[in-house]
Amino acid sequence: MAPTEAASMDKIVALCKRRGFVFQSSEIYGGLASTYDYGHYGVLLKSNVKAEWWRAVVQERDDVVALDAAILMHPRTWEASGHLEGFTDPLVQCLGKCKKRWREDHLREAAITAVGAEGPGEGDGPPLELRCPECGGELSEPRQFNLMFETHMGPVADEGSVVYLRPETAQGIFVNFKNVLQFARKKPPFGIAQVGKAFRNEITPGNFIFRTREFEQMEIEYFVPPDDAPKWHMHWMEERMGWYERLGIRPDGLRLREHGPEELSHYSSATSDIEYQFPMGWSELEGIANRGDFDLTQHQNVSAEKLDYVDTATGERYVPYVIEPSAGADRAMLAFLVDAYDEEEVEGRRRTLLRLNPRLAPVKVAVLPLVNREGMPELARDLYEDLRGRMPAEYDAGGSIGKRYRRQDEIGTPWGVTVDGQTLEDNTVTLRDRDTLDQTRIAIEELAPELERRLAVA
Ligand code: ATP
Repeated sequence: MAPTEAASMDKIVALCKRRGFVFQSSEIYGGLASTYDYGHYGVLLKSNVKAEWWRAVVQERDDVVALDAAILMHPRTWEASGHLEGFTDPLVQCLGKCKKRWREDHLREAAITAVGAEGPGEGDGPPLELRCPECGGELSEPRQFNLMFETHMGPVADEGSVVYLRPETAQGIFVNFKNVLQFARKKPPFGIAQVGKAFRNEITPGNFIFRTREFEQMEIEYFVPPDDAPKWHMHWMEERMGWYERLGIRPDGLRLREHGPEELSHYSSATSDIEYQFPMGWSELEGIANRGDFDLTQHQNVSAEKLDYVDTATGERYVPYVIEPSAGADRAMLAFLVDAYDEEEVEGRRRTLLRLNPRLAPVKVAVLPLVNREGMPELARDLYEDLRGRMPAEYDAGGSIGKRYRRQDEIGTPWGVTVDGQTLEDNTVTLRDRDTLDQTRIAIEELAPELERRLAVA
């Protein structure tokens, strides 16, 4: 079965719980809606996603540096960025039976898609009448709802102590532009990359970890001379599409969608979304925007600090334009899970597996004694202890060998090593491939270099 045919969101959620990737948050209290906790394999998988991002955007380039800014920022940041005024979604509430709240823009998009599918062109016919998708009830007038979480700094909760949990990591980068320019000795074109938590009081969170109120972003602000912005925008679209593909997402499950004029933010001259075909349909994975000089100019105006760049060679002074590839770590992890999920029948037995790229897999190799006697567990344990310093490994001696392999398949472990009777005689083990189920015999001393070689080319 092709991966996304097999993967419904329910199956992904069930596997994530069964194998300890992701749990409902605060479950013993009935759970907190749309909030999730990451268990062992979830932590390892998401951390591999982030590590691959760091590798691609910082380690394998010399024009991007790292930053880790605080979540709490000076409140004027959000005045300058426009979030206080404009980071809102149109909220409508059902006036009928169910009283549910919806994002009006989402309902409108869905209605336009439905009408579009039936034929009439845009602008034809009377304006769309939106109804509650749940119960068909009438909807309230839209109200602009600010998505920023507010809290207070210090012991007195008054107006002067209001601070916000950042709704994006990007602003931490803009306010550090000058520091990086001076102390990291960079000049345009150069970028600043950051990974961290962001918070949005979303009206309609949902689809598991796709849209939550607390999530992690992986963002780059790439500063360029204004005339070069279109070229660099193209560069980052290609780079980022390539990243998802290299890590195993099927190319036909990915697409770049350019925003139409009505969809563009006021500061953006061009934005394209990388979308993935999730079980609920094509949805945004990452946005890549040409933000012009909007952010630096705004911060310059509000802070009264100069945030321009002076080219010492030409004497030219300008505020750089910014290209922003902005991705979600949780969303990326969900896409990798969905794409890797597969079910198949092998010799009359059904198996579920995650065909994760080995670089992303939480565990790279499992070492299993065939049976729990004749010195096999001791040998397997020694082998595991040798391997675990070189790559994430697991030792498992509990239950039948078939059951242990099924467990490793479900967490996406690409290689399994079995210590059996022959190992005691000639120091070889069987090496099993998760995807093809091929089993080959290999000498113990060749095992680690062989696995390292396979990982390096994955
Ligand atoms: P959407 O249209 O889905 O609300 P957005 O266009 O507002 O997303 P951006 O502000 O461009 O999103 O954020 C950049 C990236 O951060 C998104 O592409 C997504 O991967 C991630 N992201 C944004 N909001 C959430 C959320 N509520 N939960 C999880 N990830 C998110």
